[in-house]
Amino acid sequence: MRSFVYDALPGRIVFGAGARHSTATEVAALGCQKVFVIAGSNEATIAEELAGQLGTRLAATHIGVRQHVPEALAAEARAEAVRAGADGVVCIGGGSATGLAKAVAVETGLPIIAIPTTYSGSEMTPVYGLTGEHKKTGRDLRALPRVVLYDPELTVGLPAAVSASSGFNALAHCVEALWSRGANPVTGLQAEEAIRALASSLPRVVAAPGDLEARSDALYGAYLAGGALAVAGTALHHKACHVLGGTWSLVHGEVNAVLLPYVVAYNAPAVPAVIARVGTALGLASNGDAAGALFDLARELGAPASLAELGLPADVLEVAAERIVEETGGSNPRPVDVASVLSMLQQAYAGTRPPAG
Ligand code: NAD
Repeated sequence: MRSFVYDALPGRIVFGAGARHSTATEVAALGCQKVFVIAGSNEATIAEELAGQLGTRLAATHIGVRQHVPEALAAEARAEAVRAGADGVVCIGGGSATGLAKAVAVETGLPIIAIPTTYSGSEMTPVYGLTGEHKKTGRDLRALPRVVLYDPELTVGLPAAVSASSGFNALAHCVEALWSRGANPVTGLQAEEAIRALASSLPRVVAAPGDLEARSDALYGAYLAGGALAVAGTALHHKACHVLGGTWSLVHGEVNAVLLPYVVAYNAPAVPAVIARVGTALGLASNGDAAGALFDLARELGAPASLAELGLPADVLEVAAERIVEETGGSNPRPVDVASVLSMLQQAYAGTRPPAG
C-alpha cells in the first residue's frame, strides 16, 4: 500500500526558446523595482542585453562568480546589493551564479529570478553552499528562486565539456532523488523522465552544440532533475562530490561525472529496484548494468574518467573517505564506512570500469 510524504516546493517556471525576453515582465510581476544582476564573466554579454531590457529597474550588475561560493565573495556581493538599494536579484549563468545569488538571498531575504545557462539544476533547489575552510551546505526557502526562466537559446554557447559534466550533475540528481529519504512517487516520475531526456539529448548536444532541440531537451531534463532532488534530498553521491570539490577545488560537474557510476555500483545491492528503474530509463533491458551504462555514457560524452585525471592528489583519499562518511551519516540507503568508501574512491581514482550495478 502506498504511503508517502510530499513537501512540494513553490516556484514559477517559464520555459522556452526566447524566455529571457520576458525577464523585465517577470521582475515587474514580482513587484521588484530595482534588481541586482549577478552573472559569470562568460555570461557578461547576456547580462548587458538584460540590463538594456531592465532599464530603470536595474540597481547594479555584479560580473564574476566562483564555484563553491567563497565566503568573501558572498559578503562582497551582499554589500553591493544593499548599497545599490536592490529589492530583488536576477542571476544569469550556471550553478556558480545561482549559488552567489542564493548567498545574497539567504542573508537579505531578496527574491531571486534565475536564468540558468547550464544543467546544474541549482535554480530548482533551496540548497545553498558557502566555502570557507570547508564547504558547508544549508537549506533555506529564501534560497529557492521565485521565478526561473529557462531559455535553451542561452545554452547553445555552453562548451561541450561543460555540457557533458553539468549534464552528469543533472543525471546524478535523478539517481540520487530515486534513493534519497524524501523520494515520493512524483519525484520518482520526474527523475525517470529526466534520465530519459538527458540520456537521449546529451550525446546530441555534445555532437552538435548548436542543436536547439537537443539543448531544449537537455535543459528540460536538468529542470526536472533539480526539482526532484530538491524534494527528495541527497545522499552519498552529493556528500562525496561536495567534500571532494569543496576541499580540493575540483570542478563540481566533473566530480559528478567521475563518481556517479561508482556510487550506483556501491548502492546497487541495497536498492536493486531503484537501480532497475535507472537502467530502464537509460534504455537498458531489465537487469541491465546501470553503473556500466553510466560509465559508458560518460566516455561517449568525453567527460573526465578518473579522480586522478581531475588532479586529486592520491594521498588524500583516506582523509576524504573519513570526511565523506562523517557528512553522509545515515542518509545513504547502503550504510557507509571508511573502508568501503575508500575502496570506492580508489576505483574512481583509477577510473576502472565499476562493478556491475
Ligand atoms: P559553473 O556555474 O561554474 O559554470 C561552468 C562554466 O561554464 C563557467 O566558466 C561559466 O562561465 C560557463 N558557462 C555557463 N553557462 C555558459 C553558457 N551558456 N555559455 C558559455 N559558457 C557558460 O558550473 P555549474 O556546473 O553550472 O555549477 C557548479 C556550481 O553549482 C558548484 O558550485 C555546485 O556546488 C553548485 N550546485 C549547486 C546546486 C544546489 O542545489 N545548490 C546544485 C548543482 C550545483
